[in-house]
Amino acid sequence: MARYKDSVCRLCRREGAKLFLKGDRCYGGKCAFERRPVAPGQHGLSRKKLSEYGLQLREKQKAKRSYGLLESQFRKYYEMATRMNGVTGENLMQLLETRLDNCIYRLGFGVSRAQARQLVTHGHFLINGKKVDIPSYLVKPGDVITVKDSSKKMEHFTLLKEAHKTTPSWLELNADKLEGKIIAVPKREDMDVTIAEHLIVELYSK
Ligand code: SF4
Repeated sequence: MARYKDSVCRLCRREGAKLFLKGDRCYGGKCAFERRPVAPGQHGLSRKKLSEYGLQLREKQKAKRSYGLLESQFRKYYEMATRMNGVTGENLMQLLETRLDNCIYRLGFGVSRAQARQLVTHGHFLINGKKVDIPSYLVKPGDVITVKDSSKKMEHFTLLKEAHKTTPSWLELNADKLEGKIIAVPKREDMDVTIAEHLIVELYSK
């Protein structure tokens, strides 16, 4: 499957926003977007005012790139969101947030969504006691995510026990046990993402 392989910092510069794709580096002085907050390429400094379509497209790209998805995957979430009860934009964000790789990232088990995805595909997590290695698995309230016993000794996870991480209100973390619980379906105000999802809905519903 085609995956983006160039520098992910270029994506932040392209979208004009920090997408937090590189873990700790995103929070320090080495962040490429903070050093050079212009679009990449020769004409990066001369950005034109965006049209309505341009704004919608950029917002969709921002969301897609933040969650590390391909167009076809992202579109599938939009289609699912339209079939759910409630507001389509909010449903879309809910689906993206409840992906297993995102939950692993939100719980602090991975420093970025990309790392979280890799940890999932390498089979380090159990959901309700059963191994799940599918990053797109959608969690639901009541699900308990644990680090597999044999993986708990890995340096990556032992260091996590000492790090203090704040989790969103819809998740509960027991750092000592390396265990996370989904306590509710995330509400839009619980999601720490600066995405104007109504623009994405407008784009796709044309
Ligand atoms: Fe984006 Fe992080 Fe790179 Fe900064 S360090 S440009 S936030 S990916």
